[in-house]
This record gives sequence, C-alpha cells and structure tokens, in this order.
Amino acid sequence: MTARLIDGKAVAQQIEQEVVEAIARTGLRPGLVAVRVGSDPASEIYVRNKAKKARELGLEGTELVFPESMSEGELLAEIDRLNRHDAVDGILVQLPLPRQIDAKKVIDAIHPAKDVDGFHPVSVGMLHLGRPTLVPCTPAGVIRLIESTGEPIEGKHAVVIGRSDIVGKPMGALLLQRNATVTICHSKTRDLPSIAGQADLLVAAIGRPIFVTDDFVKPGAIVIDVGMNRVGLEFAERLAHDPDKTRLLEKNGSVLLGDVDFARAKERASWITPVPGGVGPMTIAMLMQNTVTAAQRRRG
Ligand code: NAP
Repeated sequence: MTARLIDGKAVAQQIEQEVVEAIARTGLRPGLVAVRVGSDPASEIYVRNKAKKARELGLEGTELVFPESMSEGELLAEIDRLNRHDAVDGILVQLPLPRQIDAKKVIDAIHPAKDVDGFHPVSVGMLHLGRPTLVPCTPAGVIRLIESTGEPIEGKHAVVIGRSDIVGKPMGALLLQRNATVTICHSKTRDLPSIAGQADLLVAAIGRPIFVTDDFVKPGAIVIDVGMNRVGLEFAERLAHDPDKTRLLEKNGSVLLGDVDFARAKERASWITPVPGGVGPMTIAMLMQNTVTAAQRRRG
C-alpha cells in the first residue's frame, strides 16, 4: 500500500480563508500580540511570521520585542498591561524565555480569555473537562488534518507518542473528546513498536528524527508526524533508503525530517503527513483561528 498524502498547506489555507470570512462577517479586527524576549534566532522567525500572517489575514498583528536582560517583574507588568488593553484579543509569549524568567509564572499571568496558545492552567483544565476553550494550536491542527481525510475518529484506537504539555497531552484529550480510544506513550513505555502497531491512528510527537519506522505502523493506519528535526550530513547513512531526502541533504548540507520514517511508513499507512508541509503549516493557521475565537467570545 502507498499512503495518500495529507496536504497541510492546503488545509491551512482553508482555515485561513475561514479566518478571513469570520473577520468580514463579524466586522471585528482581532488583535494578536506576539511577545519575544531576547534574540533567539528561531524565536525571531516564529514571532515575525505569526505577526505577519495575522496582518495578511486582516487581524491586527503586533510583535513586541524586549531585551534579553528583561526581568520577570517587567515582563509580568507588560502582560498585565496587555490583559487590560481592550484591543488585544490574543497574547502569546514565545518560548523559551531567558533564564531569569519563570515561563510558568508568565503563562499563568496571561488572562485565560486571551490565552491563544491554550497553555494557561484554566485552558488546560477546560480542555480536559471537555468544555469550550482555546485549544493548543498544534494538536488542534492535527485534528483538522485527520478530519480532512474524511475518516471518522470515533471508535479508532489512537496512539500518541509523546506527552508534552504543548502537543502530546492536549492531543490525547482532543482525540478522547472525539471518542477515540487513546493510548499515550512516552520514553518509559515498554515495547513501543508493538503498542504503536495496534494504532488505527498514530500521532508521533517525539522530537527524534525518523524514529517511527514501518514496524510501528499497522497496515492501513493514519499516520500524523508532528516532529520537526533538522539533521546534517552525519545522517546520510540512515537516509540511504530515501532518495528524496538524500537529494535534499546532499544539495543543502542539512534536511528537515519528521519523527516518522516517511519513506518506509508510507508503504503501510493509508494516509500520512509529510514533513515539511504536514502539521507545520497548521500551527500558525490555528493560532489565527484561536485569535478570532477569542475576539468573538470577548467582544462579539
Ligand atoms: P518534548 O517536549 O521534547 O516532548 C517529547 C516527548 O517525546 C516526551 O513526552 C518524551 O517522553 C517523548 N519521547 C522522547 N523520546 C522517546 C522515546 N525514545 N520513546 C518514546 N517517547 C519518547 O517535545 P514537543 O514539544 O512535544 O515536540 C515534539 C516534536 O514536535 C519536536 O520535533 C518538535 O519540534 C515538534 N513540534 C512541531 C510543531 C509544529 O508546528 N509542527 C509544534 C510543536 C512541536 P518523556 O515525557 O518520558 O520524556
């Protein structure tokens, strides 16, 4: 079997279109503020892209940048100011933060109504209670990708590999809400390939390049790869079976890999996400949707 591709770019564009339409319908101009502290190059790109995408879709997208030396108290005061600002509907603080700032305290300080990342304990609690809330963007995007296949989630055995607060745990909660039977695996799970191999729906969110090989994949499973791992030429041997990735690695000296060994897994799966172009484009699209939802709930 060769799996059908789940096209994350196309699904993300559809969500962006829904955002544009919701803005036109409601007449609201949702405000998103992306906060960055320090000069981590990856964070710089993420924050800029989030604010830029917001403006492209008709939101008010603002990037707030503070020096690496900012104190925790100063950042908390800034969050307080944004919480009170009526034109701000969504606040996100790009992680990681400098050492002197406790990320938990900062997340806890964001008003839950403006918590568009869905990381606040109130948002997490509401999600696990199955009540309406702002849901973390990456797992929410995964649900949309699964839905785009037209396959039902209800009744399927879903195995999630990874239990982080931002991906694995909320992923499990969202799948459970949709009546999947959910197993969450992690680094202490015994006999992972055999558990993963029982999954009708396999979500890999581990952070280890091509860790999930074909012996983890039940024939006909839907495979969603959240992982994003950049590797260099030292990986050439392990990629010898994958001519597409090998070509990119030789051309650029590095290549982006998922947690799933795509070349092998696609021979057993029924549907699979590529990396890049699968889960990646969904995260920003869902952030825009969360900001519109936050604006509608607060001001609509
Ligand atoms: P994380 O916080 O590092 O969590 C990784 C999880 O994988 C942990 O629960 C860990 O288990 C588990 N794990 C590690 N090694 C394992 C092993 N050998 N066997 C089984 N489980 C293992 O990572 P994350 O933030 O969830 O991100 C996961 C991946 O998704 C990363 O590649 C990240 O770059 C990517 N990501 C992509 C997007 C996107 O927009 N596409 C968004 C977020 C993250 P323990 O809990 O036992 O340590």
